[in-house]
Amino acid sequence: MAFESSRTCWVDGAYVAERDARISIFDRGVLFGDGVYEVAAAFNGRLLDADLHLARLARSLGAIRIEGAQSAEAWIEIMQSLLDRNGIDEGFVYLEVTRGVADRDFPFPADTAPTQFAYARPKRLRDDPNAAGIALASVPDIRWSRRDIKSVALLAQVLAKQTAREAGAFEALMHHDGVVTEGGSSNVWIVQGGVLRTRMLSNDILAGITRAVVVDLARELGLPVDERPFTITEARDADECFMTSATSFVLPVTSIDGHEVGDGAPGRHTSAVRAAYLERAERLTRHS
Ligand code: PLP
Repeated sequence: MAFESSRTCWVDGAYVAERDARISIFDRGVLFGDGVYEVAAAFNGRLLDADLHLARLARSLGAIRIEGAQSAEAWIEIMQSLLDRNGIDEGFVYLEVTRGVADRDFPFPADTAPTQFAYARPKRLRDDPNAAGIALASVPDIRWSRRDIKSVALLAQVLAKQTAREAGAFEALMHHDGVVTEGGSSNVWIVQGGVLRTRMLSNDILAGITRAVVVDLARELGLPVDERPFTITEARDADECFMTSATSFVLPVTSIDGHEVGDGAPGRHTSAVRAAYLERAERLTRHS
């Protein structure tokens, strides 16, 4: 990978050029996928919902018992600084915390400080070309049973999203025996008869921050939300389908496994929810 000489990231307390960023081959994130991460959007040069992302980071860290990570306040300062130093107006910040560096042994090492790092990237969010509609391909969900933890062990999603890519789709629609869990890196919603439906929170899915915001926005728009599982067939036959994630906001799904959803164009409720999401992002980040 070619590193742009001007890009700066943050590794364990220091801002460094990306080409100089290093972690150990004995890092437990490398050896075991023993770590968690977060991704928050940047809009108008400001972090969006950083507090919600850092609250989820605290939950993920607690669930896998990593101690000694820095505070939410410290993270917010670093994340904002990465946007400023890299001149990013629209994009995202990625951060990761692993259990740290130790000789390879499965149980937790004693007295090891976590490894912490972050970087920022530009991405078009307002004028995302995918807002014209994306394709999903269904893929069996082969993950472990604690999908509520935002773990860096993402091999199942790597394989699912590669399968989707090879099928010409943008995102994987992961399912268990035909019942949808979530997208490869997104939550998935259907709209039927004016009612929005998305799977309820449990250990089976990640509690998406965008999902939570969209639940509130839908209610503000007067759209009922039904938090219940649905099948691939129900998604294919729905009036509308969309996916949500921090770095794509709300994207219309216009085909599933090659079948058009609705009339094959972004649905009106989906468009209303995306517009409401963008308006909220604008309101929360506009420079005063
Ligand atoms: N589900 C999975 C498996 C994810 O990886 C993600 C995001 O990466 C989401 C859902 C969406 O979560 P968020 O809206 O917090 O980005």
